[in-house]
Amino acid sequence: MRLILLGPPGAGKGTQAQMLKEKFRIPQISTGDILRQAVKDDTELGVQAKSFMDSGQLVPDDVVIGLIKARIKQVDCEAGFILDGFPRTIVQAEKLSETLTDMSLAIDVVVDLEVDADEVINRLTGRSTCPDCGTMFHEESRPPKVQGVCDGCGGSLAQRQDDNEETILKRLEVYQESTAPLKEFYKKGGNLKTVTARGSAEEIFSRVCEMVQ
Ligand code: AMP
Repeated sequence: MRLILLGPPGAGKGTQAQMLKEKFRIPQISTGDILRQAVKDDTELGVQAKSFMDSGQLVPDDVVIGLIKARIKQVDCEAGFILDGFPRTIVQAEKLSETLTDMSLAIDVVVDLEVDADEVINRLTGRSTCPDCGTMFHEESRPPKVQGVCDGCGGSLAQRQDDNEETILKRLEVYQESTAPLKEFYKKGGNLKTVTARGSAEEIFSRVCEMVQ
């Protein structure tokens, strides 16, 4: 199964992608995670991406398209993959579709996670992530058993640098302008499914599963 998760920052794409990855045993491909790792490792890609990420802007299309083209050709993607945070512009969506067509493949389903802007701000400001295993927590809705410590691997939880109110507002603006038009793009293709991203991660996951199965 080849699946795209759409939705604004804070819609829960990362959490749902992790749950889908476990259920369907296919890789989660998060351009945000790949870019954050590159920043952490101080690679050429990281240096190129950092200022865009810190200011809530999109990293240039050709950079992320190159990343995805290489990633989906890897052997672990043969049975499918979950795209989390890609595509984010119409150009990215067009290039993805061209690449898949060249490989005689296609996207099976696009799940759009719908959530209100107020809810997004609350979710993102209260969120922390384990830098070691990627598990996400929230101070109200999904608190770790021990404050600041990952339940899964014991890593020290950290807040993302771009999860501050000013950058969140910029990210939401960029989402409206560049990414929201993808809903129309995929609606025309006939494989867009809309899911209300309200309630617990498990409740949202059961709605997502109904749509993809
Ligand atoms: P995310 O973890 O998906 O919220 O992404 C964090 C940041 O990485 C975004 O605010 C962008 O700066 C950058 N980024 C992630 N995915 C993309 C993409 N598909 N296109 C451009 N920039 C991206």
